[in-house]
Amino acid sequence: MRIKTDYIGDYQGSLPAQCGICLEEEPSKDLLLQTICCSNVAKKIIPRIYHRVCLKEWASKQSSNLFPCIYRCGKSISKSELFSRIDRTKQLLFSPLAKKLFKQTTTTSITLILGLLPAAILIKDKDLSDFENNTKVVGLASILGLGLSMMTCRLLYKMEKVPLKINEYSLLSAIASIPPTLIYYTSMKVIGLIGRYKLMNMV
Ligand SMILES: [Zn+2]
Ligand SMILES: [Zn+2]
Repeated sequence: MRIKTDYIGDYQGSLPAQCGICLEEEPSKDLLLQTICCSNVAKKIIPRIYHRVCLKEWASKQSSNLFPCIYRCGKSISKSELFSRIDRTKQLLFSPLAKKLFKQTTTTSITLILGLLPAAILIKDKDLSDFENNTKVVGLASILGLGLSMMTCRLLYKMEKVPLKINEYSLLSAIASIPPTLIYYTSMKVIGLIGRYKLMNMV
């Protein structure tokens, strides 16, 4: 089982120190940080030294919220200890997982439109004109959109095994729910307008 590291922070040791990633000797303490996830056979803790930039770059390549120790000691470091909240949100939004998610919501949206087309034909003209002004449509659209995207999110996260925090999960779900919701709502509006147009021509 992977265990989270208990410490990641400013470098405390002597200078210059070698970065564990680019292997360069760094004379400035400000540019370094250390993790103490590793230990030797006698269970003595070994601080690992990295350039802040090097470790961040390496960590951001990992799609998971946890990234394994570079020295493969078996422990994983949480990105939240390395990045600010804004940094992590940006990473999340531009991650391969998010791209996949948005692709999925596009598919969902298209399926939704295709499903609505028969409805436009089947529903009676009079019902349609009422439908347009019905506030229930907005509510239904939101629930449907959010439900679909949450389901998609869940499936994707299960597949990718990404241990996302609940607020990150909610954020992605909420963002992903926008396109299907808008499309559903717009489609309903259009159907309503068609219905009203037909009704007006009948009178
Ligand atoms: Zn480095
Ligand atoms: Zn380690």
